[in-house]
Amino acid sequence: MRQFSVFDARVASCSSMILFIRYIFTLAIGYCFFIAPEANAQVAFTVVKATKGVADLRRYNLTDEPLELNGEWKIYPGVLLTPDSNFKKHSGYYVDFPRLFNETTINGQPMPVHGCATYKLEVILPDGLKPSELALDIPDAYSASVLYVNTTKFFNNGIPGTSAAATKPHYRPDAKRLNVNGSSFTITLLVANFHHRRGGPYRPILIGSNTWLKNRREQGRQFDLFLTGCLVMGGLFYLGLFIFGKQDRSILYFALFSLVYTYRIIGFGDYTFHHLYPNLSWFLTLRLEYLSLFFSIWFITLYNRSLYPDEYPRWAARIFIYISAGCALITLLTPTTVYTHVVTPFLLLMGVKIVFTFGIYVQAVRNKRIGAWFSFCSALVIFFVFSLVILRYFAVISINDIVLLFGYILFFFLHSLVLSYRYARRLNLITRDAEVSLKAKSDFLSTMSHEIRTPLNAVIGITNVMLHKPQRPEEKKLLDTLLLSANNLLFIINDILDFSKIESGKINLRHAAVNFEQMARQLVTEAAEWVGDKPVQILLQTDEGVNQFVQSDPERMRQVLLNLLSNAVKFTLRGKVILQIKKQFETSDSLTLEFSVADTGIGIPEEKQQIIFDKFTQVDTSIKRGYGGTGLGLAICREVLSLQQVSLQLESTEGVGSRFWFVQSFQKDKQSGKGVQYDEAQFSAESFAGLFAGKLVLIAEDNAINMMVVEKVLTNQASEIQLLKAYNGKSAVTLFMAHQPDLVLMDVQMPLVNGMDACRQMRAYEQKHGLPRTAVLALTASTQDEEQQLCLDAGMDAVLSKPFKQEDLRTQMMRLLLAK
Ligand code: ADP
Repeated sequence: MRQFSVFDARVASCSSMILFIRYIFTLAIGYCFFIAPEANAQVAFTVVKATKGVADLRRYNLTDEPLELNGEWKIYPGVLLTPDSNFKKHSGYYVDFPRLFNETTINGQPMPVHGCATYKLEVILPDGLKPSELALDIPDAYSASVLYVNTTKFFNNGIPGTSAAATKPHYRPDAKRLNVNGSSFTITLLVANFHHRRGGPYRPILIGSNTWLKNRREQGRQFDLFLTGCLVMGGLFYLGLFIFGKQDRSILYFALFSLVYTYRIIGFGDYTFHHLYPNLSWFLTLRLEYLSLFFSIWFITLYNRSLYPDEYPRWAARIFIYISAGCALITLLTPTTVYTHVVTPFLLLMGVKIVFTFGIYVQAVRNKRIGAWFSFCSALVIFFVFSLVILRYFAVISINDIVLLFGYILFFFLHSLVLSYRYARRLNLITRDAEVSLKAKSDFLSTMSHEIRTPLNAVIGITNVMLHKPQRPEEKKLLDTLLLSANNLLFIINDILDFSKIESGKINLRHAAVNFEQMARQLVTEAAEWVGDKPVQILLQTDEGVNQFVQSDPERMRQVLLNLLSNAVKFTLRGKVILQIKKQFETSDSLTLEFSVADTGIGIPEEKQQIIFDKFTQVDTSIKRGYGGTGLGLAICREVLSLQQVSLQLESTEGVGSRFWFVQSFQKDKQSGKGVQYDEAQFSAESFAGLFAGKLVLIAEDNAINMMVVEKVLTNQASEIQLLKAYNGKSAVTLFMAHQPDLVLMDVQMPLVNGMDACRQMRAYEQKHGLPRTAVLALTASTQDEEQQLCLDAGMDAVLSKPFKQEDLRTQMMRLLLAK
């Protein structure tokens, strides 16, 4: 069955491209194709040529396909006659139907565009056909019409009158069941136009099977609504993408184009919109129809220009935009009789624009612009689709509307691809930029921290050395303050560096044997030093089962607890700070502990209890001034714990105190748990002096101040220690080979040969000569986990970060020597 072609033009309106091409087509085959986009319907059905006002259908089969009731209709120009009028009083003429008023000549004169006329046709039906199975399909006419079947008012598109005031234009084409008795009936059609630049009937009236005609209309509306749904959803999707993404204007323009163009689909052709809202004024809907056209061109021009700004000249875009805007303005400000005239020149412009846009796409492909191939293909698709429409128009081929529908959807899909492609590329670029700047930030921080840590090492080291010498009380006070300030600075640097590591995902958790009872005791001792002269008691409460070794990351756990303790001490003016570790659960393999740090401090207001875990957030700035700090501590604690799938909790009452707590499960460490037990006394300064008396220690350090600090720290604690000094890696290796020291303290970044290469050479030397392995302790100002790992890979036995505490250096050195 051949499909009706009314649908073609309507579906064609689903993209501006289609519209443009339709314009070209219009220019090629006569401009009435655009004006009457469904005119090609004439070729789709069998045409009945009425003669002298009579259409004899007796030799036609009406059940198969509808007929177009064209041919000679009788016309009574200038009057509106209802069937009960006295027709004899008026002059009647035979004219071709359907024809616009100005294309209809009466006595050699064309009828005026503004006026009215009555048309009459007698239809003789085939024998044996029930008229009730038939229907008439009545199109819209410019711009108001009423159709009578015999003496009954059958259908109306508005109200025709003999003056502008008496005429109410409206378009609502539809199919309606014929309800006549007998083998013939008379059609009386009254048409009036006083508001449009065109007047009169321009589409054929169809007669055919009721089911067929009604289904056709129904199907047409369903397609309209389907396309509308697609466009609205697509448009809203892109609008959302723009609003939340805000980077690419082409997305916005495409969204607006899709949304505006929606009206071309339901407010034009079959006028589905008028069926949904029958009471809407024709003056409003006609304006919307025209505005949607002009705005579509406006937005598609902006869209194309923003896609290919280098190919699309600004002046050209301006011309198209200004003309569209001008036409839109005329539509808004002038009456229908005026603004309906702007379409003709607009068509010419569109003809130029389509060719121009195609050229832009070709240029964009040549210049390898993002998604240009998709744009180009979309233009090809639309040309192909439209060629099919033309070929069908000339009855060369017969194609299904679905093919065209897919063509139009493909057009939108291809443009969606253009946008998605651009969007994805932009996101990739942003992500890459973010990664690069994150890396730059983390590199900067690590370099800066390295640079700050090196002199800080000297400050802390020398202060420590001086503190171990006898001084006057006021000197001691000054030195204590100096040490406190330097330690605070180190604390801040460490926090910032840690946070940058967390942000760039560079924190790797270590696993080692940890005894939390012992760690807690050390922490409490340290915290007691921060109290100063405040009446604050630091207490430790642990359960029996806590004193055993488990697998955990000792540095990170220490960091978390230390942070919580330091906050508790900082924000408590009097009362208690309690570190509590409770055993919650124990199996033969695992131990679940609850850690909590409670204080009787200033507390945290309820509304701030969540935000303080965010980076750089503090309860208020006055507190910041009063108590110091960076606002990073809790953020680090939370991140470090969440890396271990543990969440940090808080209970706090303002003015009463706070309690931070978390629960964590650990695997028991059965081997080392029994063996190596921490014994504070084992690593005391006295034992160090004893252990290292007469021992030869090689210090490889290029920085003279750092060298001096290490030297002082060591000789201060063990006067009988023997030292070898190398100021670069090369001489370190030479000294090592010549003297074979008991222990090497190795800086990592050194000239000539760096610490890692030096260590490799030492290990190779040992191996070659079958010598016992000498302990090598790396001293590095870098806190990058990678660098520490590289040190171990190079053959070093342990790594100590600079600046270090005297006790830590002592402990590490003793451990290494004892382990030999
Ligand atoms: P910092 O202590 O360096 O400012 P933190 O992230 O450790 O940064 O803490 C953030 C904020 O949370 C603190 O500035 C303080 O306002 C609040 N806070 C943290 N711990 C306590 C506590 N124990 N008592 C009262 N307020 C606290």
